[in-house]
Amino acid sequence: MTTSEKIALVTGATRGIGTETVRQLAQAGIRTLLAGRDASRTTAAAKTLQDEGLPVEPITLDVTDSASIAAAVESIQSRYGKLDILVNNAGILVDEMGKAPSQQTLDTWRTTFDTNVFAVVELTQALLPLLKAAPAARIVNVSSQLGSFGLHVDPSSSIYHFKIPAYNVSKSAVNAWTVHLAYELRDTPIKVNAIHPGYVKTEMNKGAGEIDVPTGARSSVEMALLGADGPTGSFTHLGNTLPW
Ligand code: NAP
Repeated sequence: MTTSEKIALVTGATRGIGTETVRQLAQAGIRTLLAGRDASRTTAAAKTLQDEGLPVEPITLDVTDSASIAAAVESIQSRYGKLDILVNNAGILVDEMGKAPSQQTLDTWRTTFDTNVFAVVELTQALLPLLKAAPAARIVNVSSQLGSFGLHVDPSSSIYHFKIPAYNVSKSAVNAWTVHLAYELRDTPIKVNAIHPGYVKTEMNKGAGEIDVPTGARSSVEMALLGADGPTGSFTHLGNTLPW
């Protein structure tokens, strides 16, 4: 069975930008699956939004676990038969602050890439048949301006000194993956875009961010709701193009 209702999935949505992205998509009338790796925290986060009257469903999904991905895909297939919007939001930052780029451990690199890169590729590959079953799916990859080569080589850029290598390079890889997938899907109605949410006050930066969470979710939501004339293969923040 394929539902006529629009269906969205947001990963890493138990807190922060993810929860707010779910809220804003659901406020736009889209049935939104709030995905998280811990079942009880996922159910609790979804209930908060359901209590606001929003069309939100919890779904357990650890993006680094192939069995969990397979179970989520099967659940979406059997309940809805398609997926209109995928927001790859789950992410981690585990570099040790203050350590030189050459001193971060390989374990840090591997752990970071498992969540921020390989999980994005694996989940997207697994969901592609359901995305193709929707009339005009949108894939949003939550990247970061810290993944921008253009900004990292520019001594006048505000992030020039933020050399957090495993995290930053993982987001550069997300950007490159976005371009490659957009190329593959260029003759389909599917659009694939990367966004920078802004420097947002969340647990990831212990509240040190500069903008509030609702504003931080806007770039993801705007790209999730893009019309047919919108871009694909872009990297933006609140509609402004960022340097690769
Ligand atoms: P956050 O508050 O730390 O939230 C991260 C979310 O990802 C949590 O819900 C976490 O779930 C989830 N997650 C981590 N590993 C997961 C896994 N294996 N499977 C499923 N979920 C997993 O961070 P945030 O600031 O909202 O970040 C959201 C996204 O924005 C990330 O991709 C981040 O890199 C990006 N971003 C953030 C900023 C910023 O200033 N905050 C700037 C640029 C980009 P648990 O609770 O289970 O750990």
